[in-house]
Amino acid sequence: LQNFRKKELLFKILIIGDYGVGKTSIIKRYADGTFSPSYKITIGADFAIKILNWDDNTRINVQLWDIAGHERFGYLTGVYYRYAVAAAIVFDLTRPETFKSVEKWLLDLRKKVNLPGGHPVPVVVLANKGDITIATLPEEIVNFCEKYNILAWFITSAKDDVHIDEAMITLINAAIEHH
Ligand code: GDP
Ligand code: MG
Repeated sequence: LQNFRKKELLFKILIIGDYGVGKTSIIKRYADGTFSPSYKITIGADFAIKILNWDDNTRINVQLWDIAGHERFGYLTGVYYRYAVAAAIVFDLTRPETFKSVEKWLLDLRKKVNLPGGHPVPVVVLANKGDITIATLPEEIVNFCEKYNILAWFITSAKDDVHIDEAMITLINAAIEHH
């Protein structure tokens, strides 16, 4: 009976960042709980859905969008960004140049999409591959996040399942707040 009253929300969340940083792996880890060490190139936008029974009255369909090969253009079209309620910008801790790109991804996002009320889309930064050697200084990340009003940043590992859930919950909470 309770199901009749359940509110269904659909949240489109973007996972962006340079090629090879682990975007697809993070999506797979969050949506299916799996990890694959082999490198797979996927072409075209793609998304995975995870259904969360958020509370007694609310079910959330989390749609995680993977840019799947479009990284090479360095930007995305407005169509891809449309209706997004949150975004994770991912870089690879072992490749500092991918951290430099986080700013570029953020500016592209800010230029192309806002929440319906005009508020900027909430963003978290994911410093991925935290299970390997860390080459990017946390201090730089903290400064960046302050400068650009980033909600939070996390050292993640799609391989070892570290901080992926926490990062997604942070984004979902922000999306609910602005809903
Ligand atoms: P994408 O191009 O951003 O979608 O990156 P992928 O998800 O395809 O990952 C690129 C490569 O990095 C693959 O070989 C993954 O197995 C590997 N990878 C992704 N995340 C992690 C991680 O957290 N730790 C480690 N050690 N490898 C990872
Ligand atoms: Mg990918």
